[in-house]
Amino acid sequence: MSGKIVLVPTPIGNLGDITLRALEVLKSADRIACEDTRRSGILLAHHGVSGKPLVSLHEHNESRKAPELVAAAKAGEVIAFVSDAGMPGISDPGYRLVQACLEAEVDFEVLPGPSAVLMALIGSGMPCHAFRFGGFLSVKKGKRKEAMSAALESGETGIFFESPHRIVSTLEILTEIAPEAKVCVARELTKKFETYHRGTAAELLEWFKSHGTKGEMVILMNNAG
Ligand code: SAM
Repeated sequence: MSGKIVLVPTPIGNLGDITLRALEVLKSADRIACEDTRRSGILLAHHGVSGKPLVSLHEHNESRKAPELVAAAKAGEVIAFVSDAGMPGISDPGYRLVQACLEAEVDFEVLPGPSAVLMALIGSGMPCHAFRFGGFLSVKKGKRKEAMSAALESGETGIFFESPHRIVSTLEILTEIAPEAKVCVARELTKKFETYHRGTAAELLEWFKSHGTKGEMVILMNNAG
């Protein structure tokens, strides 16, 4: 009997953004590994997936847990993995699980699905033939400046995850290092207050200072004219 691990992307806000194939896999899996079993439980219940054994796999136990799940897959289980939202592995657990599958020569599959990275890129209106995703910007101002400068110098569209608590400070840095660059903050994608803020860093800075900085966000920048 051949088992496998399936990495299943989940919605980044709107619960309707899940594929038929993702639901089929979740319904037929022997077990579902979740970054947060309570959070995924809500999504599973919404889509009528009930009674599945859930097991937790998060950044703090992934190194230990991944080989265990892979061994179970080798013994014949089909195990689905869902992170809290979006594509597993993208600033989420998933990478070590894939590594463990490769090392143990266990089958794994990755389903296509939502990710804030690609959605923000296309919606920003910035060039999307070449881009660089840098994950979460650092909490340290110097490192943030370095990461954004490198993205701007590359000529490609730079994409980063940013916290609402730091967006003002990040826009201040951008205003200083790239006053002419095109900037976009894609906020609350697929949710009720989905908004793309487009302009220069100074324009966006003014907007966020006067309207507040709530929500999940992705910041994008391009200096190529
Ligand atoms: N794996 C996820 C993906 O593929 O989109 C990303 C997970 S990462 C832990 C969470 C960060 O992604 C958030 O802090 C935010 O920067 C970004 N993000 C996730 N959902 C978002 C949304 N609906 N709108 C804007 N940004 C979002």
